[in-house]
Amino acid sequence: MIPKLIYEMGKAIRNPLISERLSALLEMQGWSRERLVQHQLLGLRSLVTHAYDNCSYYRTTFDRAGVTPFSILSLEDLRKLPSISKEELIEHRKRIQILTSSERLFYSETSGSTGKPLVFYRNQDWDAWHRASVFRGYSWYGVAPWDRNGYLWGYNFSWKRAVKTRILDMLQNRFRLFSYKDNEIDEFIAKLSKATYLSGYSSMIYEVAKRVNAKKRAWEFPHLRMIKGTSEKIFDKYRDEVKVAFGVPIISEYGAAESGIIAFECPFGAMHVNMETVIVEEENNEILVTNLVSKSFPIIRYKLGDYIRLEKSSRCACGMQHEIVSEVLGRVGKVIYGKVNQYPSLTLYYVFKNLAMEHGLVLNYQATQSQKGALLVRVEGQLTESHRQALNKEITKYFAHDLDVQVKDGEDLHTRKGKKADFVSEIDR
Ligand SMILES: [Zn+2]
Repeated sequence: MIPKLIYEMGKAIRNPLISERLSALLEMQGWSRERLVQHQLLGLRSLVTHAYDNCSYYRTTFDRAGVTPFSILSLEDLRKLPSISKEELIEHRKRIQILTSSERLFYSETSGSTGKPLVFYRNQDWDAWHRASVFRGYSWYGVAPWDRNGYLWGYNFSWKRAVKTRILDMLQNRFRLFSYKDNEIDEFIAKLSKATYLSGYSSMIYEVAKRVNAKKRAWEFPHLRMIKGTSEKIFDKYRDEVKVAFGVPIISEYGAAESGIIAFECPFGAMHVNMETVIVEEENNEILVTNLVSKSFPIIRYKLGDYIRLEKSSRCACGMQHEIVSEVLGRVGKVIYGKVNQYPSLTLYYVFKNLAMEHGLVLNYQATQSQKGALLVRVEGQLTESHRQALNKEITKYFAHDLDVQVKDGEDLHTRKGKKADFVSEIDR
C-alpha cells in the first residue's frame, strides 16, 4: 500500500496528532446527547477563559457586556457573550491572534466580503481536530484519506504553481482538472472510474455530472463510495444529476477554515453537527458558531454569514445523537432592490423552493441585479410555457409588481473559475 505509506509519512511530518484526535472522535460519535453537551460546556468554559486571559479584544468586549468566564454556567449562558462578524475578525485580528503557543502554527487565509482576506494561524491541536473531523466523515463511507480521489476546485494557476500543485496532488493520491476543455473533462471522468471518492465545489461536481449524463454509459464508476460537495450550497438540482451520473449521492461537508468542520452528512442524509469541536446556535435563522478548539485564534459566537435551520431534538437512524443542520438556506446580507422596497436575497430561495415543491420543477438558476427595480434571472435548460407561468407566479407572489424580472432560459451558468453564487449584486458589492 504505497499511498498509505506516503500518507502516514506526510502526517508524521505535518501533524502527528491527527490519529489520536481521530480515535477520540470515533469514540465520541457514540456518546449520548447529555454527554456531548457536557463536553461542549467544559470546552466552552475553557475557551472563554483562555480568550479572556489572552486576547485583549475579547477582554474588552466581554467587560463591556458585563460578563466574565465565570458567567458561563450552562450552554444557554453563551448568549450573554457578544457575537463577532467576519469584518470584525479581520479588523481586530491582531488583538485576537495568540502567537505564544509552543506548538507549530499553520497559516490560514480566507476571503472576506470586502475583498480583504482574513489571515490567521491555527495551532497544531486545532489543525489535528479539523483534519480528524473530515476523516471521521470519510470513515462513515468506508473511505480512507489515502484512497485515490478526484478533486474539483477553482483553478487559476501560474505554471510554477501548477507544478507544485501536481506534486502535492500526487502525494495525496489525488488528481484534478486544470482546465474545462471537454477532452480534459473526459480524461478526468475516465480517471474517476478508478477512484474511491470525489470532492470539491458542488457546482463543479454538478458540471462534471452533467457531462457524464450527456454521454450516457460511456464510463462506469465501480469504486466510487463518496462524493463530497463543499464551500457552496448543494442545490436539489445537483443532487438529482449527481445520483444519476455516478450512482452515489452527493453529500455535504459544511464548514470553514475559521470555524472548522461544522457538520458532515451521514449515510442516512443527516448533516450532523460536529458537537465535539463546535457549538452551533441559530439566531433569527442565522448561524452563530463557536469553535471549541480554536485556541490560537479564538472564534466565539461567530456570524459565519449563512441562514440555516437547526434541529436540536431529532434523532437519526445512524444512531448518532448529535444535533442536525437540516438545511443551509443561503448567504446572509445581500439585498435585492425593488422600485420601492428591499428584499433579502433569501427570497429567491423561497421562489425556487416553492417551484420545486408545488410544481415539481427543479431549476438551476442565478439571479443578477445591476439596477434597482430590475432583476435578471438566468436558468439552465429550456422552460416550457407552463414552467414560465409557474415561475412568474412565484416571483409575483414575493415581489408583486415592485420588481421587473426578466427570465432567460437555456443559459450556461458556470464561470468555471470558482464559486457559483445564486445571487450576484452589481449594486452592493
Ligand atoms: Zn445520521
